[in-house]
Amino acid sequence: MTSLTIPAEWLIPHKFPNQWIFQCSISLRNLVLTNRAGQFFRQLVTFLEQVHQLIDYHLELQYNPQRNNELDVWICFGKPHRASKPTLTPVCISCELTHELSMTTLLSEQEYTRAWLDATARAMLILTPIRHVERLSELTDENGEMEAFWYDAIKLIDRECNQLEICYRAIVLNHGTYRNHSHLHLKIKVTDDTWNRIIAPRHREKIQKINQLLQKSSVIEDCFGPRYYKRLTKSKIPDEKLHSSNQDAKV
Ligand SMILES: [Zn+2]
Repeated sequence: MTSLTIPAEWLIPHKFPNQWIFQCSISLRNLVLTNRAGQFFRQLVTFLEQVHQLIDYHLELQYNPQRNNELDVWICFGKPHRASKPTLTPVCISCELTHELSMTTLLSEQEYTRAWLDATARAMLILTPIRHVERLSELTDENGEMEAFWYDAIKLIDRECNQLEICYRAIVLNHGTYRNHSHLHLKIKVTDDTWNRIIAPRHREKIQKINQLLQKSSVIEDCFGPRYYKRLTKSKIPDEKLHSSNQDAKV
């Protein structure tokens, strides 16, 4: 394929207080299928982190229905309640595959990535790099790791959502103090319909097992920092049916 370039206007943000929005005149899927996702996200993180020294931020990808479902990239930063780094936990559930929570949530492994159910059984799919990296900018271009990350995200969505066109609400990548885990997590927040009709029934046993594991204090202490602990103790109590509650984590 000839090398398609990234139009300069895709990298000029619309600026609002604590929020920048980048608009691409293409969908995420087509960005990936034209082999430009690696290039686009490299230029985006370079712009954010090197040109503007933005280190702590929430990156969110959305369809824009007013623009023919083309890609909007939201960058949110500067929120005071997101001032501290995630706590280091004894277990990185994205690296330590022998931990029972990791074994239960793992869906597949690719050359550079792993796909998972959410470790707290929220209505989302997770993609992580196999390497323990903390930022999108740490993925490498030379061996295709950055490109593969986005390609695998689209493949995961197609596989788990039965090729539905609109099956997720947002895709989130948190950086710096916006993270809950130190390991980079791509969170694909699927729609209620996709979750309840397709994903939850397919993985019913795994989701039940995750909810059982979350009752164990040793699992909570080993795998989650205080932010998770606060949310779990507030929202979970006593058991069951988390898969149907489909709560949306705020960040
Ligand atoms: Zn890790």
